[in-house]
Amino acid sequence: MKNIKNNIKDATIHDFLNPEFIYIPILDGYKISVKEKDHVLKEDVLMSKDGINIYSPISGTIVGKSDSLLLNNKKKDFLVIENDYKEEIKKPHGVIRYISDYDKDEMIKLINDYQASKVKLDTKAKRLIINGIDKDPYEKTRSFLINSSSDKILETVDALINVLDIKETIFAINNNDTNNVLNLSSHIGTYPNIRLKLMPDIYPIGYKTILLRNLLSKRQIDEGVIVLNVEDVYNIYTVLKRKKPILEKLVTISGKSIDNSMVVNVKIGTSMADLIKNACKVNNDKYYVIINGLISGMTLENLNTIITTDVRSIFLNPIDDQEEVPCINCGLCNLKCPMHLNPKYIKEHKNADTSKCIECGLCTYICPSKINFKPYVGGNHEE
Ligand code: SF4
Ligand code: SF4
Repeated sequence: MKNIKNNIKDATIHDFLNPEFIYIPILDGYKISVKEKDHVLKEDVLMSKDGINIYSPISGTIVGKSDSLLLNNKKKDFLVIENDYKEEIKKPHGVIRYISDYDKDEMIKLINDYQASKVKLDTKAKRLIINGIDKDPYEKTRSFLINSSSDKILETVDALINVLDIKETIFAINNNDTNNVLNLSSHIGTYPNIRLKLMPDIYPIGYKTILLRNLLSKRQIDEGVIVLNVEDVYNIYTVLKRKKPILEKLVTISGKSIDNSMVVNVKIGTSMADLIKNACKVNNDKYYVIINGLISGMTLENLNTIITTDVRSIFLNPIDDQEEVPCINCGLCNLKCPMHLNPKYIKEHKNADTSKCIECGLCTYICPSKINFKPYVGGNHEE
């Protein structure tokens, strides 16, 4: 595993919450409940399937569908809403005083109905791991979220412990995340059932598989454990406290082609092109864009793509950085793979077993010949 440094110096979360248009992907099997020229309020249901609703992040007018946008590099139809900038909402939300007042069934139903967590909660598990470590060393999304909302996150973890009858809880953060080490150390005393664990600053410790391997024995993992990252916990807080859907998210924007690396709070459904044009100081016109990790992320084919709940980070790097040259047999890809695989062998043998690969991208990142292993490795993608 490898020690890598981050370059975000600005500790403020910037808002980008007023895009002119919002684009909502029309997912397979979803029934659309609005039509062209309808006026929608923020949080109105736009489409649904099997009791799962997709809500409008803004108030405005439905202007129709678009088929010229991409989701994960694949063409998709999108519902387009023009913003009226009024943020009109049907009725203001009440606030629940204590989220631990929910019983188990109510809590699970709300979390599932509003899709607050990507992880399905195992209600029989007796251990809970909170992952406060960013997956990519150049991302700061989780670190900034803890820094801005540690009180809400700890309150939610405490409620989950009580309602789900959890026996052991570990909150893992990076030992180099100095602000949060101080922040959590001074607050966690109020929650004696949560143990803070400082993890070494090595990649890819923010990956669930690697984190678990460093925290628990195989027997403990087999007994059942819930692993939530702090974004899931914060979303659960929003849903339980206010009974409202998740309409915004934090995204890290960084890379060598911009001067102002930062973390932004952005409306879900914002266009990537809109965000980059309005929020970034781009210093180089010839750049390519990677989402969800400089090391393990996906290179976008173009900027006609949309911020969804799955986007954690956006990196803009100069195109020159991508040029590949022949392998010099340095052996680094094999030596550094955290799953003890041989990426060079995998690339050269199309039937090689890739099932243990966690798609951390370290082999591609570390290769001095800039060989891209991403099309060859993979197999065990984790959220
Ligand atoms: S082979 Fe997979 S697990 Fe190993 S370094 Fe490459 S991406 Fe990571
Ligand atoms: S890291 Fe790159 S150059 Fe080194 S052995 Fe692997 S493929 Fe070859």
